[in-house]
Amino acid sequence: MSDYKHIVCPHCVAVNRIPTTRLADKPQCGKCHKVLFAAHPTELTNNTFGKFIGRNDIPVVVDFWAPWCGPCKAMAPAFEQAAAQLEPTVRLAKLNTETEQGIAAQFRIQSIPTIALFRNGQEIARQSGALGTADIVRWVRASC
Ligand SMILES: [Zn+2]
Repeated sequence: MSDYKHIVCPHCVAVNRIPTTRLADKPQCGKCHKVLFAAHPTELTNNTFGKFIGRNDIPVVVDFWAPWCGPCKAMAPAFEQAAAQLEPTVRLAKLNTETEQGIAAQFRIQSIPTIALFRNGQEIARQSGALGTADIVRWVRASC
């Protein structure tokens, strides 16, 4: 177990090296000085997805969604609340499959909402269908 974790800033995508014991102390980004964990899912794009998934030393859960998807919108508040419960041991993020189609195609997202858990750049679990906060948290903890 390393004493440091690399955490990708959700605001400027800089890679920060944070002592593991300090993760829960509201650490700030060394580059943009914003709080690294703000209990809010990070919006990813085609440009930031690879770095965010690959460089974070904590697991990243991505909610693949689209603006036209009713169940996705219904799940959004639950996903937001799950972020507050799972940070800073897990990072939650969202990918808009309508605007970021390259990533959606690369991961063969067939139906939305789909949440997928990545560790060290590898997908290790996937779940389709809308979930409530408790079920999201339970699924993530069981999958990590
Ligand atoms: Zn930053």
